[in-house]
Amino acid sequence: MKAEPLVFDGTAFNSVSVVDTLVSARGTGRRWSTQKPLAFWRVFAEMDLSSSFNVEMFAGRYGDPTGALPGQSYLPSWRKVQELLQVPATAWDPVDDRGISHVTVDTTRITLSKSFGISHRAEGELTIWDVNPVIDLKTYNTFHRARSLDAFMLFSAYRQLRDRTPMRRCVECGHWFDASHARARFCSNACNIKASLRRKGEI
Ligand SMILES: [Zn+2]
Repeated sequence: MKAEPLVFDGTAFNSVSVVDTLVSARGTGRRWSTQKPLAFWRVFAEMDLSSSFNVEMFAGRYGDPTGALPGQSYLPSWRKVQELLQVPATAWDPVDDRGISHVTVDTTRITLSKSFGISHRAEGELTIWDVNPVIDLKTYNTFHRARSLDAFMLFSAYRQLRDRTPMRRCVECGHWFDASHARARFCSNACNIKASLRRKGEI
């Protein structure tokens, strides 16, 4: 099955600091983009949000999920997104002896893990649908575009749950990534390069 693209253009912040849950970022940020779901939503689901280090790392690498930047407390809005993402995360089993985390075969757990989004939609809080279907008028192919980082993470979780995407932790940074390609060991090219520099003793 050819996967439908999920397009997202993000803005990460290279210099983020957190003081008393107030986040501030210097500069206009660094643009990044993807055309497929990414598994880092699970990093966010598992993260200790009270740690400034974690928040700085996440915003520095992926951006601000909820637009709390700059100068507001990130905690209430980030926590809400985290609570949403913790629901689909329950579908994945702990890593097996090959280091891969698979979606469970337990149908009850699957059903529960799929309930994210629905209740929040009813409460009018849903940002997951901040994702639009788009038609490429040259090729007539369709794809989805996420408009915000929280929507991108939620939609990635939904897709990866639907596709039962196996996950692995990057050997360099520890972040989850799609392990459909069994030999992949890094979440990104950047981590691959970092690890090879480390092997050569250059960093
Ligand atoms: Zn990595």
